[in-house]
Amino acid sequence: MFSGKTEELIRRIRRAQFAQMEVEIFKPALDVRYHVSEVVSHNQNALASTPVDSSANILLLAGSARVIGIDEAQFFDEGLVEVCERLANQGKRVIIAGLDMDFQGNPFGPMPALLAKAEFVTKVHAICVRCGNPALYSFRTSQQKNQVLLGEKDHYEPLCRPCFHEASF
Ligand SMILES: [Zn+2]
Repeated sequence: MFSGKTEELIRRIRRAQFAQMEVEIFKPALDVRYHVSEVVSHNQNALASTPVDSSANILLLAGSARVIGIDEAQFFDEGLVEVCERLANQGKRVIIAGLDMDFQGNPFGPMPALLAKAEFVTKVHAICVRCGNPALYSFRTSQQKNQVLLGEKDHYEPLCRPCFHEASF
């Protein structure tokens, strides 16, 4: 969320582009916070991306791309796991960015299965706004209880484990 996941995704996709590899980037259609057809990070890095309604559309639209980027993977349906496995089995490199936990600290959408099946996992951490330690959690500062609530700066703050525990009880 505030951790630089999208920056890291963009960095890796750019490296593939430098290597002359064809890339395609997808994001869930519901995530239109910044721009409908671009993956945009907080520092305004941007790459063209395709918003899709369901994970099945990624398979249909991947085409001949060698490298597939997926942003905000936590918002996709559980079918994303099989989609990514099929793409990887076709020899494509699949690079996924997503939040591992929701605002209650529970595994988020297809992320746990993706983490389990990935060759490599990098956890990037935000900084706890209360104490400055690495932050694992996205604490929701508003009272809404639905799992999906967009608009991160208005509704969330990154917290470390002790600060999240203190804030939650
Ligand atoms: Zn803290």
